[in-house]
Order: sequence, then structure tokens, then C-alpha cells
Amino acid sequence: MTQSVHEYDYLCIGAGSGGIASANRAAMYGQKVGIIEANEVGGTCVNVGCVPKKVMWFGSQVAEAITKYGTDYGFDATLNQFHWSTLVKNRQAYIDRIHGSYQRGFDNNGVERINGFAKFVDTHTLDVNGQLYRAKHILIATGGRPQLPNVPGVEYGITSDGFFALNEQPKRVAVVGAGYIAVELAGVLHGLGSEVHLAVRKHAPLRNFEPLLYETLVEIMAEEGPTLHTHSIPEKLEKQSDGSLTLTFENGNSLNVDCVIWAIGREPNTDQLNLDIAGVQTDESGFIKVDEYSNTATDGIYALGDVIGEIELTPVAVKAGRLLSERLFNNKPTAKMDYNLVPTVVFSHPPIGTIGLSEPQARETYGDDNVKVYTSSFAAMYTAVTSHRQATKMKLICVGEDEKVVGLHGIGLGMDEILQGFGVAMKMGATKADFDSCVAIHPTSAEEFVTMR
Ligand code: FAD
Ligand code: NDP
Repeated sequence: MTQSVHEYDYLCIGAGSGGIASANRAAMYGQKVGIIEANEVGGTCVNVGCVPKKVMWFGSQVAEAITKYGTDYGFDATLNQFHWSTLVKNRQAYIDRIHGSYQRGFDNNGVERINGFAKFVDTHTLDVNGQLYRAKHILIATGGRPQLPNVPGVEYGITSDGFFALNEQPKRVAVVGAGYIAVELAGVLHGLGSEVHLAVRKHAPLRNFEPLLYETLVEIMAEEGPTLHTHSIPEKLEKQSDGSLTLTFENGNSLNVDCVIWAIGREPNTDQLNLDIAGVQTDESGFIKVDEYSNTATDGIYALGDVIGEIELTPVAVKAGRLLSERLFNNKPTAKMDYNLVPTVVFSHPPIGTIGLSEPQARETYGDDNVKVYTSSFAAMYTAVTSHRQATKMKLICVGEDEKVVGLHGIGLGMDEILQGFGVAMKMGATKADFDSCVAIHPTSAEEFVTMR
């Protein structure tokens, strides 16, 4: 007996940021849409990424307000006890509410949720836990997972996924890695009161960002923590008889801690999809190769979000997913994602915001003579009345006669919320004169971006 096949117009593999956005948009245009998810709806961002991370970051802001700043604002505040499990419980309840709202979105739009793990059986048919599903259009939005280093004892450490599963606060932690996740988790744990060591392979974390940003972050870490260990390449991780962990580096140094978090990057979820059967091509790291319209090498199969290894951010996956559905199902043949001038924030302590080119990139692209740089440096006003001052630093990178703004960077309190509007201005092609024509909002940190000389 031949197996029955469930027929759809559009199937999305992965109910994460990209898949959900694309599925809902397609269904709004009357398509019969199925979204296949092996785990929780919401993907990385909602379950083990942006959302729980930001909640923990807010938690550490509360702790810092009490321990660092409260007294100088006249509050007789002391931090007596921090209940990690309360924060985790409330965080999870919030995530559960988000799950509910996604399901309501699917129901309202008519998207059918299919639970299970999808694999290609031919170019337009998927096997999901023994059931067959076919569609003319299939989106691969399967995201990624944490990468692990190749060191003995790697299994004693955890990744960001393991961090979000912690029911108790680790007292002493080593975070290995130099990107967004390493910096954010190290900062959160430090802010919440753990002893934290951040170990990076080279001279600084975030070393590919604008130098002003990572240099300032390193200065602030030196003053406030966590403890930064540069030029520290992990060699091995050993478990001691008391349950603690010893992380040894190639330079001979070692750390004894209760928890090691590997945060060295992410790899795509493509190895179990049977992509060869579908004719979908990947690069040497497993990321799916696509053209600028999210088309893979096979007609009718598309890929976007983290699985293509372009810019691994939730709003990028969301926008690419919506644009793909606009192109396929709303008669917009030229709709495509623009990966230029994507604003991004690292939720460090203090946060970092960045759009466009760093100063070295601008000088290389346009030549020294065509680049004009404006900077600003001051103590964040929130900290100006307290004994503990914290720096804010900003940089604008302008090019050409008209001083078009091609790079905007800042580190300091509030930078996470400041950035978005400047992103709009830069997408519109704003010049330094346009920035200056906008009246400042006083007293804020943001006003510095429109008053730099
Ligand atoms: P995902 O959200 O990863 O979704 C993929 C989904 O596919 C998953 O649910 C997975 O279970 C499912 N899946 C995989 N294979 C299959 C299969 N074969 N069958 C069925 N289902 C499958 N970005 C930001 O913009 N801001 C942040 O603050 C931020 N913080 C982050 C913090 C952390 C710790 C991490 C790890 C990431 C963070 N990101 C952040 C990045 C963001 O989470 C990702 O860029 C985004 O989730 C990518 O969306 P996606 O749809 O490509 O994949
Ligand atoms: P990243 O790619 O940002 O950074 C990982 C870094 O770890 C590398 O750049 C490298 O830095 C270092 N590294 C690589 N291999 C090793 C190794 N073997 N040993 C030690 N260090 C190593 O990855 P993340 O995992 O931090 O984050 C993945 C992506 O998720 C980010 O790029 C970002 O797009 C997204 N994200 C976004 C967030 C946000 O928007 N706020 C928050 C979290 C994640 P070096 O070469 O300098 O050693």
C-alpha cells in the first residue's frame, strides 16, 4: 500500500524566527501552510537565545542598581539574597506566554503546526516522523546550535543551551569565547554575583567590532569585572574529585571553577536533513548556499536565517522570511533581504550598539583622505552622581564631501535603546549635517550623536 502524502502549498522546516515569520505571511496570502518543528515553537531566540538572555540581563541590571548605584542615590539598599530559581521560573512563565501567542498567531492565520523532525525524501517531499508531506515551495529555516571546541574533557562544560537550563547559580564560572554570547553571558553572571572569568584566544573580545567598542569594554571589564584572560586557548578540561573543574590553557595557566561555558560560535542544523537528496548545496561549514533571493540550488527550496550563516540575528531571519513570502505569494518578484547597515546590539555591561563600517573598514574601503571621524567620551549621567562612574563612548564615521554617515558605534548605558532610530537615518543615507539638523534631546546620551564636533 502506498503511503498517503499530506499536500501543502508551502512547508517551513523550523518554527524559529525565520520560519514563523515566513509561514504566517504566506498564510495571510491564502496559501496552505505547514510549519514543522522538532522542539518548542519560537526556536533559538525565544527558548535559548534573545528572550531568556535579555531577561537575565535585566536581572543583572537590577542587581547592579542595588549594589553599585543605590547607595549614592540615597537608598539604604543592600543585596541580601538573590534567588536564581525565582528569576528562572518567571523567565520560563514569560516564555510559555510567548509560546501561547505564537500558537494563537498560527491559528488566526491558518498555519498548521506539524510536530517532528523533517528530512527530505525527494526535492519536494519531507518525512516527518514517518509521515510524508509535500509542497511546491519548501523553506529551510532550521537555525543552528552551539559549536564545541575539540579539547579533552569538553563534555564537562556546558553551552548557552546549558546555561539556560541551570537551576542554580554557579558560583565560579569560566566562559570561553570572544563573541556576542561569551560577552553577554559573562556579563550577566558577573552582574548577578558569580565570580566570572572570560577567556579569549586573542587580545580582546569582540575584536572584529569597531576598536573603540572593544577597547572601552576591556577597560570597563578591568575596572568592574568580569576578569578577562587574553591569549588563552583552552587545552583541556578536567573534573576534580570535589566536583570542581580545572580549565587549562595552552599558555600553561589554569582556572578552577564550578562551571565552564563554551561560547565559541554556532554551527548550522543541516547535517540531518538529507540535503543531498534534495540537491541543496552547502559550504564547507554546512551553511546552505543561497542567492540574494534566498533560493537554494534547487528550484522551490529556499533557506534563510542562521542556517545560511549570513548575519545571525532574529530580526534578520524575520525580515528575510517575510520578504520571501512577499516574493513568492504576493507578486513582488524583486522583494529580497538587504543585509547592508543592519543595526546590532551586544547586551554587554554596558551595552554596545553598532551600525555599518568600523573605522578600519571605512579607511580601507574609502581611503584615509575620504574618512572623517567624530568621537565623544563622557561619564554616563546615571553614574555621574555616584562614586562609581562608568564611561560612555561614541563614534561616527563619515565619508566624502557630504560626510555621509557610514558607521555609528557606541558603548554605554542606554545604547541598546538608542540605536534603532539612527539605523533608520542611516538607511535613508543621512549625512553628518542631517544628524546635526536634528535638535538634541537633553539630557540624554543619545544627544551626543547629533552634537559631535
Ligand atoms: P532558529 O530560531 O534557531 O529556529 C530554527 C528551528 O528549527 C528550531 O526551533 C529547531 O528546533 C528547528 N529545527 C531544526 N532542524 C529541524 C528539523 N530537521 N525539523 C524540524 N525542526 C527543525 N539575536 C538577536 O537578534 N538578538 C539577541 O539578543 C540574540 N541573542 C541571542 C542569544 C543567544 C544565547 C543565542 C544562541 C542567539 C541569540 N540571537 C540573538 C540569535 C538569534 O537567536 C538567531 O539569529 C535566530 O533565532 C535565528 O532564527 P532562525 O529562524 O534562523 O533559527
Ligand atoms: P560569534 O561567532 O559571535 O563568536 C564566537 C567567537 O569565539 C569567535 O569569533 C572567536 O573569536 C571565538 N572562538 C572561535 N573558536 C574558538 C575556540 N576554538 N576557542 C576559543 N575561542 C574561539 O559566536 P557566538 O556563539 O557568540 O554567537 C553566535 C551568533 O549569534 C553571533 O554572531 C550573533 O550573530 C548571534 N547573537 C546575537 C546576539 C545579539 O544580537 N545580542 C547575542 C548572542 C548571539 P576570536 O577569533 O576573536 O577568538
